[in-house]
Amino acid sequence: MSFSDLKIWSDRDISFKLSWYLGVANNKFPAKYLIARRIPVIIDLNQPTEKLWEVHSNATNEFLKLKEEIQYKNKNLLETSIPPISLMDLNVELVKRMLKHCNFCRWDCKVDRSSSGNKTGTCQLGPISKISTYFHHKGEELIFRGLHGSGTIFFTSCNMRCCFCQNGDISTDKENGVATTPNELALMSWILRVEGCHNINFVGGDPTIHLHTIIEAISLFKHFTPSESQLHNIIRNKSDKFIKYTTRKQYGDYMGEFNVPILWNSNFFMSVETMRILRTVVDVWLPDFKFGKIKKCSQVLSRTPWYFETITNNHLLIDQWGEDYSIRHLIMPNHIECCTKPILTWIKIPDALVNIMDQYHPDNYTDPKSLFYNDRFEPINRRLSKSELESAYNYAKELEIKFELITFERYL
Ligand code: SF4
Repeated sequence: MSFSDLKIWSDRDISFKLSWYLGVANNKFPAKYLIARRIPVIIDLNQPTEKLWEVHSNATNEFLKLKEEIQYKNKNLLETSIPPISLMDLNVELVKRMLKHCNFCRWDCKVDRSSSGNKTGTCQLGPISKISTYFHHKGEELIFRGLHGSGTIFFTSCNMRCCFCQNGDISTDKENGVATTPNELALMSWILRVEGCHNINFVGGDPTIHLHTIIEAISLFKHFTPSESQLHNIIRNKSDKFIKYTTRKQYGDYMGEFNVPILWNSNFFMSVETMRILRTVVDVWLPDFKFGKIKKCSQVLSRTPWYFETITNNHLLIDQWGEDYSIRHLIMPNHIECCTKPILTWIKIPDALVNIMDQYHPDNYTDPKSLFYNDRFEPINRRLSKSELESAYNYAKELEIKFELITFERYL
């Protein structure tokens, strides 16, 4: 049985809305990064930043044309040669420049996070990216975990401060991981894919704050022949290292090139510039949508201003761009009327795939048993009640939102 034989793909809406992702996962299509590497940019990369963005915009149009020809007109990617300077090189240059006055996310801290800078912004990070662990994640949605798992890579720190964070050990501790270079990250990704993972799932904390490391790593993706010492270094924080997976080059191969879908598993609190870069490398988006319009919810529970407008703008962008995506919403106790229902009402407009998640549990600063507990979070220091859960699901049904198959597949 292969990934595409899973019964969930027989649902026409799901297979239609995720057709690009499924094609890349099955190596029928090349990942976007392979296309971006074939889009020429005629420019000296030392030009001013505004000029680079102008060229990026034109190159993105060329990228979209080639992607469409591959997806709908059976165009062979290998008919297009690799230019001296490509859109992928331009992506790497642009994110390096962004790091110097960091605007990766909506905080727009404008601090110099490169090695020459000595300031940090809200995420508290400099140039180094740390990875806490990586492994075949068998707990993601079936469309992502498939048969062999989602190749999930957990970065430390975050640009939001959710009091209930269920990955609080890494999102609130930027040091809780191993410093990883772009080349090491590329090798980790290759290992996960040739062991059978259906995608590379960048998560945290949040991956956005590590954009420079991730984009450079993707630019280095290839079939590796790692030495023993390289493997030794890489394997130490792979948490399923004791499982012996069979490795096969063909798990991730498109006409001789290393191929894997890039999955962006994020809080979506990103800048528009970051969205523009990611459009040319992300094959499937997994955006989170936590809080409704009432500012108090995001500001008290997450210490995040400008939440609703930023998140809805970014959701609208991926929908208008015709991207493959599936949204996650975690139902929170006492936040059905202010968050769940308005979010579902908003989502109804683009008629997206949604996972309405019921697994909220008190954690981090909301767990009364924790040393970190803060009693101002008393209203969300419990699990969901049956009536809250029913209210959320009934409301989604009334709106005819496409959520049941994605949400309940574990129980089918
Ligand atoms: S990633 Fe976001 S929070 Fe971190 S420095 Fe950049 S703009 Fe600020």
